[in-house]
Amino acid sequence: MPLWTTLSQHITDATGASFQARRQRSVGGGCINGAYIVEDGLQCYFVKTNTFDKAAMFAAEAAALQTILDSHTLRAPHPICHGVADGHAYLVLEFIEMGSHSAHSAALLGEQLAAMHHVTTTRFGWDIDNTIGATPQINTWRDNWIHFYGEQRLRFQLELAARNGYPMLAKGEKLIDHLPDFFTSYQPHAALLHGDLWGGNWGAGPQDNPVIFDPALYYGDRETDLAMTELFGGFPATFHAAYAAAFPLDKGYAIRKDLYNLYHILNHLNLFGSRYSDQSARLIDQLLAELRG
Ligand code: ADP
Repeated sequence: MPLWTTLSQHITDATGASFQARRQRSVGGGCINGAYIVEDGLQCYFVKTNTFDKAAMFAAEAAALQTILDSHTLRAPHPICHGVADGHAYLVLEFIEMGSHSAHSAALLGEQLAAMHHVTTTRFGWDIDNTIGATPQINTWRDNWIHFYGEQRLRFQLELAARNGYPMLAKGEKLIDHLPDFFTSYQPHAALLHGDLWGGNWGAGPQDNPVIFDPALYYGDRETDLAMTELFGGFPATFHAAYAAAFPLDKGYAIRKDLYNLYHILNHLNLFGSRYSDQSARLIDQLLAELRG
């Protein structure tokens, strides 16, 4: 059966409301997946597709969106169904009309992200391994954040970089050995994170209310989400002000944010190649120098 016929049946089964795709339009913007708006004149859905081997990635994304929704803190698209159809992995989401955001929606995002970061658990990780971009992200539960971040975030990317021909593991290992020095007067909590919060992963939905999507969710130090909002831009000053007012940051964040963004720079090195090689090496050197200073 062709993809859209099978998907229509899966949507009908999931919602209990008959759906028959009449129009599907490819939409740009996604880095990793095919993205479509599909409608039947009455209902409209947002569909992501990829090769069939990416079914687990979409299952993890659906579970992450549901976890965010269950926290009742931030708006995210409702997952409708996911699976494999006609040889493609797919994820069907509620369609949310999104426009450009304003100072107001950014401030609400700051407040609501702070609320989401107040949702905590006792260990670091998640029940499901997921992906950051297309790179696997290991979420095995750990009691110790420094161990979690050193092994499952930094060492994982450094070893992948070495396999990809960018040997900076020795330098990176020095940093991993000294990670406790970044946490001498700071005790992170295992907070519910978006995990991939760059400016392209939020928008303003109806009534200028913020919406987050495309999470790489796990429970970890909330500073990692904040650090990423500063890495590639896209977050107005009102966002930062509202977050800080709702949930003030520890002063050591100023140094740890570079440590946390190293994970994403290394991931970019592994995804997009050599143009991130110098930046990764320089950042490790800078962090090692900060430890010495
Ligand atoms: P990818 O995983 O391929 O990066 P995203 O989940 O980031 O894809 O989605 C790509 C774009 O599609 C986003 O930038 C956003 O503008 C839009 N989008 C994502 N989810 C929805 C949705 N549920 N409803 C409407 N538009 C969406």
